Amino acid sequence: MTDPIKRVPFDVESYQRRSRTGPCFICGIVSRDPSQPEEIIYEDDEHIAFLARFAALPPGVPYERQQYHALMAENGVVEHTPEEAAALAAKIRKALPS
Ligand SMILES: [Zn+2]
Repeated sequence: MTDPIKRVPFDVESYQRRSRTGPCFICGIVSRDPSQPEEIIYEDDEHIAFLARFAALPPGVPYERQQYHALMAENGVVEHTPEEAAALAAKIRKALPS
């Protein structure tokens, strides 16, 4: 079976360097730091939900098949544009109960 989703290599070295020397990415997302362009799906005074920048799974993978594989970026990450991320985020926001 071939995977129709285009995956790109995950730059582990760059990720490790940024994680060890850069500021906290969660604080960056919360403060709307432009270097953290994650799409925010939901936010209130106590919670925030955002799309992972380095998605390892394409949309539509059944929940029971998502466990752990979603964290295995070493298998490559799903390439998406900022516009695709914004469209997915909008779709999820719309599906959330208000
Ligand atoms: Zn932080």
